[in-house]
Amino acid sequence: MFQPNGSVPTDAGRAGSPRDILRRAGSVPPKAGFPTFEELMAGFADLQARHPDAVQVRRLGMSRAGRPIDMYSIGSGRLSHLVVGGVHPNEPIGSWTALHLAEQLLCDQDLHDGLDARWNIIPCVDPDGYKLNEGWLANPHDRGHYARHFFRPSGNEQVEWTFPFHYKKASFDAMLPETRALRDGIDGVGPDLYVALHNSEMGGVYYYLSREEPALYPMLHEIPRQLGIPLNEGEPEAGFLKAYAPAIFADGTLEDAYDWAEALGIEPHPPGSGGDSSGSYARRNHGSLCLIAELPYWRTSQVSDTSVVEETYAAVLARTGQQMADLTEVLQTAASGGAEVMDWTGQLARNALVFVGMMHGAAQTTLARAAQSEANRPATAAERFGCEDTVRMFRLRYGGMMLRALESAPNPCPALQAVTARMSDQYEQWQVEAAAADQSEPIAIEALVGVQYGATLAAASHLAGRLV
Ligand SMILES: [Zn+2]
Repeated sequence: MFQPNGSVPTDAGRAGSPRDILRRAGSVPPKAGFPTFEELMAGFADLQARHPDAVQVRRLGMSRAGRPIDMYSIGSGRLSHLVVGGVHPNEPIGSWTALHLAEQLLCDQDLHDGLDARWNIIPCVDPDGYKLNEGWLANPHDRGHYARHFFRPSGNEQVEWTFPFHYKKASFDAMLPETRALRDGIDGVGPDLYVALHNSEMGGVYYYLSREEPALYPMLHEIPRQLGIPLNEGEPEAGFLKAYAPAIFADGTLEDAYDWAEALGIEPHPPGSGGDSSGSYARRNHGSLCLIAELPYWRTSQVSDTSVVEETYAAVLARTGQQMADLTEVLQTAASGGAEVMDWTGQLARNALVFVGMMHGAAQTTLARAAQSEANRPATAAERFGCEDTVRMFRLRYGGMMLRALESAPNPCPALQAVTARMSDQYEQWQVEAAAADQSEPIAIEALVGVQYGATLAAASHLAGRLV
């Protein structure tokens, strides 16, 4: 175990020891912004060119727009791991994590030999979605700029959530070409450890694991602490999620999510929903340990403030649920205004449209939770912040996507120009409100990469029996 009192463990230096992993997590070189898709692929191609005998490349498929989805494999051992970037193409911290992991495996023999594993890395599994985020990647720390150029696919176009799912009235089989490529990667590797490289936006670090692994928790807490990033001890992302430990959650199942929504009296699988997650597929078919390290771009102590506030949790949910309902109405008005005069089939526009319904669902869920008897208790400051910032995030993200979609129409008629101008004014107001409420500070990208990288090594070392 890691020794927080600073005494030197006897295992100092051995690859995969707690001390070694903390050193590696803290040694990621400075990064300015995130790479474009072409820069990321050039980085991997360069590694492959410099180490042709040590790196194997396999093309898993092509994206819908014809971009390659490749998997790079390095090392050998009893264990096989799979690390995947771009599962949500708006979450690029993992692009550096993937590249840094590959570089280190190739230049550091101790690491290469030390974890008894063959590592398989897919740098970016959704290149088309990643391309639609490239407007902000060079300047990720300005939240307004980020949101204005942000793109996230709706549920049925997310590689992460488009694995087959059949449960009660839900049925989803429409795997994307990118999802089939990922499935083939998972089936080819049969991962012992499966790491989908996600990240969040605001607050602190939290994790998902597919099973309880208590021996891993001290490292998952210690790595961000060492790098000065708080744990997120506020709201879990969904009400049905179970915590194994502070900021470490069971990744849950979609069946649980369905039953939970059904019990709340809301539509459990509305139009635009996808299917099961890649992690669920890996766990069910290969028994993988799945790890997700969710990391924010901005840090604020508000996410760790467990003091009790005067407002009840029910009141916080009711207030923010209503704000989501208001957001839905604004988006719906904009979509209706452009309905007749715009082409909604392009990737940006059709996804912006689906989020109108998704925001309606989020509002309904939040309002339904507000009406539950267990919500009638004092809220903590962290919970209140989490709920309020979710509203800000939804406004900036999906308002931004709607505005970009409207603006992308070629030769807009006067009616569409008027709709776009109204949406632009509203969006400007949301930007001002979000900026006024903002007490956060940006986190150095190398620290974020360090946490994701360190958590991945810790899980791999744990499976190899070397995290002791
Ligand atoms: Zn994600």
